[in-house]
Amino acid sequence: MKVLVNSGPWLAVPPPGYGGIENVVATLIPALRERGVEVVLASVGSSAVEVDELLAVYDDGMFAELQKPYNQVTGVAHAHQARVAAELRARDDIDLVHDHVEVVGPAVLAALDGPPVLHTLHWDLRKHPAFYGAFPRSIAVNGVSRSQLARAPEALRAASLGAVHLATPLAAGPPPRLRRDEHVVVMGRVCALKGQHVAARLCQKLGLPLVLAGPVCGRNTPAELDAVAQDPYHPLSSHPDVRYHLDQVAPYLDGDLTRWVGGVEGEERDRLYASARAALFPIQWDEPGGTAVVEALALGVPPVGLRRGCLPELIDHGRTGFLADTEEELAEWLPRAGEIDPEECRAEARRRFSPSVMAERYLDLYGRVLAARQA
Ligand code: UDP
Repeated sequence: MKVLVNSGPWLAVPPPGYGGIENVVATLIPALRERGVEVVLASVGSSAVEVDELLAVYDDGMFAELQKPYNQVTGVAHAHQARVAAELRARDDIDLVHDHVEVVGPAVLAALDGPPVLHTLHWDLRKHPAFYGAFPRSIAVNGVSRSQLARAPEALRAASLGAVHLATPLAAGPPPRLRRDEHVVVMGRVCALKGQHVAARLCQKLGLPLVLAGPVCGRNTPAELDAVAQDPYHPLSSHPDVRYHLDQVAPYLDGDLTRWVGGVEGEERDRLYASARAALFPIQWDEPGGTAVVEALALGVPPVGLRRGCLPELIDHGRTGFLADTEEELAEWLPRAGEIDPEECRAEARRRFSPSVMAERYLDLYGRVLAARQA
């Protein structure tokens, strides 16, 4: 079977550091190829994941464009998508398209008389109500958690093939041998939805060292962010994520107990994550998929978070982490993270969130989509 995996023009696969969807695609592709699937990847030229063929309009990820006004963003998305569409018109060797591109992906693919398409929904589906409310019927969909689908518009939920949880290669390999440190970590892009300000408030109250890791609006270092913050004419200086960091997170950053280390990647990221006493998820939205949660489990770091979105599907309260309904409850559970057995977390990740588990689920869905086309 030959599958065109469309991950979009925003970041390379795997991403250099932060990248939710691209990390998922980077996890899925090797596991599909191990199972004999030929993969054509539509992404950017700097993608280093091994594939049978790479299609790219742009050499490098266009993530910075995502911060710009909407019409420029869609310009990039459309250029990428037009290339995918042209390819699908010109050839007949692609059996199925596995699409991961928000809105523009399905919109363009639905207008083609091409191979069947499975679109993976990665977002909070309330984000584009008009689009998801009238999702093209010719395209099959799956979600990344049951809770995400439960909030989907009725027709989309009814048509979906179910939820496939996210996975991580960390669940397949041996865990890094590290001494546990005292710090709590929040791993994620810095924005109000991920709740870094709640983490900072909480850890200061409890006297726990906190490391916040993740980019602000694509800025990976304090110096890069300073350059934006100090230039009132910079197009990003009034961006909500930049304002959030400056106004709500920065006041807690004392360089000692509470630190922001910017975006981290590779071994540095894994070391920082794996040596933490707990991974904190004080999320302020209904997290659709939560790659960072399954990564924490795979590294044997107990996740402690608010009972929202997909978190109750990923964390078994009291066995593999803790879930709380309020910030006060979080303050009670966080110091108890040491009661969770790291081996239990790792075993859970191997059983439920490994690349093989995800690939088998997708192969099953590919089979169903192909069978529906033939029927
Ligand atoms: N991440 C990273 N470096 C950072 C912050 C995050 O590599 O500094 C990774 C993180 O490990 C995870 C992904 O980026 O793999 C974020 O995905 P998640 O689903 O948790 O969040 P979202 O897609 O909502 O941003």
